[in-house]
Amino acid sequence: MDAETLRQYLEFYQDLGIQTLYRKAQPARAEAAPAAPAATEPLFRIMEDIGDCQRCRLHEQRTKIVFGVGNEQAKLVFVGEGPGADEDAQGIPFVGRAGQLLTQMIEGTAKKEGIPLLRKDVYICNVVKCRPPENRTPQPDEMEMCGQFLTRQLLSIRPKAICALGSTAAKYLTHSKEGVTRMRGNWYRWNDIPLMVTYHPSYLLRAYNTGPKREAWEDLKKVLHFVYD
Ligand code: URA
Repeated sequence: MDAETLRQYLEFYQDLGIQTLYRKAQPARAEAAPAAPAATEPLFRIMEDIGDCQRCRLHEQRTKIVFGVGNEQAKLVFVGEGPGADEDAQGIPFVGRAGQLLTQMIEGTAKKEGIPLLRKDVYICNVVKCRPPENRTPQPDEMEMCGQFLTRQLLSIRPKAICALGSTAAKYLTHSKEGVTRMRGNWYRWNDIPLMVTYHPSYLLRAYNTGPKREAWEDLKKVLHFVYD
């Protein structure tokens, strides 16, 4: 495991509240140890750990857990807030109206910019994996509980960039208290991975004027060029 991977694992365990780690004694060796490949856990292991999750109240009304979808080696990961009704029914993130807009935004922007990219090439997931009742914003304890799995997903995929969709994902991943209008279009960092904030597609569906749509398009252009140029 290289130093950077180790640092991220240590930060992850610290986030879980684990303060002390014990190291197995190594037998003395004359020659240098061969470099070990970076140990990252596969996504299916995280899904197995989630299991039939009942760790928070969101499980009570869910139909399906919405883990995430896309390329496990994606260079770009989109993170939304939490599943809506369509996602809850199908177990796949961003498949409702907002999801269709997200697909159009990704594929349309990529095409215009001459980047050969389809939705299936990126990875898409949410801060919480069960639908909050009436699509309310997830509560801090729900995000804290479910966020451990998002952290593991992001560390497993290790994308070149993350795009946070909307205020909930942006605030959760950056710990910023700023509104999304101020944050959008700016680069932040999540565990050393560059993170761009943009509007949530549901907000764009409700927006009365074209301003936010144009801005979201600019944000996406920035991310796509950063990742795929
Ligand atoms: N909104 C989200 O934040 N995530 C989804 O998966 C669908 C809608």
